[in-house]
Amino acid sequence: MTSNPRARRMSRRFVGGQSLDEAMAAARTSNRLGKLVSLDYLGEHAGSVAEAQRARDAYLAIYERIAQEKIEANVSCKLTQLGLDLSVEFCEGLVCSLVERAAACGNFLRVDMEGSVYTQRTIELVKRVRARSPAIGAVIQAYLHRSEQDVRDLLAYGCRIRLCKGAYDEPHELAYHRKADVDASFVRLMNLLLESGVYHGVATHDPRMIAETIRFAAALRIPKDRFEFQMLYGIREDLQRALVRDGYRLRTYIPFGQDWFPYLVRRVAERPANLAFFLRHFVR
Ligand SMILES: Cc1cc2nc3c(=O)[nH]c(=O)nc-3n(C[C@H](O)[C@H](O)[C@H](O)COP(=O)(O)OP(=O)(O)OC[C@H]3O[C@@H](n4cnc5c(N)ncnc54)[C@H](O)[C@@H]3O)c2cc1C
Repeated sequence: MTSNPRARRMSRRFVGGQSLDEAMAAARTSNRLGKLVSLDYLGEHAGSVAEAQRARDAYLAIYERIAQEKIEANVSCKLTQLGLDLSVEFCEGLVCSLVERAAACGNFLRVDMEGSVYTQRTIELVKRVRARSPAIGAVIQAYLHRSEQDVRDLLAYGCRIRLCKGAYDEPHELAYHRKADVDASFVRLMNLLLESGVYHGVATHDPRMIAETIRFAAALRIPKDRFEFQMLYGIREDLQRALVRDGYRLRTYIPFGQDWFPYLVRRVAERPANLAFFLRHFVR
């Protein structure tokens, strides 16, 4: 799929491009539209030390370009891309070098959350690094039963959190599956985050979750610049525009790079209508 030119072109529906130049162009356009950006260099499950180090170098280059071009953007990464499958200590070393660079540029590193086999290691690693620097933040998935405890733990470190529903296929013992349960958990966790006084990200395209967030923030008189909404590149652009127009902070998550296939599969799994989009264009 990734080497097929037609498939590559279609991936542009959700991916900011194959190269850093293309991603920077997408980020500039987003900034012009009043959106903040998070750049994600696509990749997961590095199979060797050299592969993980190459990912680290790619992220260092992203911080460099953001600073040079004065783009309003931070960076999101996955720990398995930085060698979590190889060794926690090795991975933590790479994360620390990224967080140091982020702090030196007045920037920030968001550690995405992957499948539940990585949750504990990810939370522990983020807490250790957060104890040394505020330039790192975590992601919490509302579908996991454990998330409320994780939020409380991370808040004890003053850690910035992105709240999302969760994108992986998890077993019933660990995660809610009914939409109503996931949504109820999302609202509970969003309340905890907004009450904490720390600057967090509410990452959803669900108009009901967005309305609940706006209502709760207004009830607590939390100013619009004390939290942000986050959405994925190419999804619900109408909602993104509406939030910017209404004066909310909105960050678009722009993934880029050649390893876009697993990311695309998650977007299709969330919304099977996306598969029809791809098949239609492929056949055409
Ligand atoms: C900025 C950001 C970062 C994220 N980071 C992570 C992460 O680190 N770990 C993780 O597990 N998950 C992450 N996710 C994904 C998230 O967990 C959900 O899988 C995804 O956002 C869909 O959930 P939803 O809240 O939009 O609500 P849903 O109830 O799934 O969808 C609500 C509405 O949004 C629209 N929509 C949702 N998904 C799609 C799609 N794929 N294509 C087109 N329209 C769609 C539809 O209109 C749908 O009706 C992230 C999401 C965002 C926005």
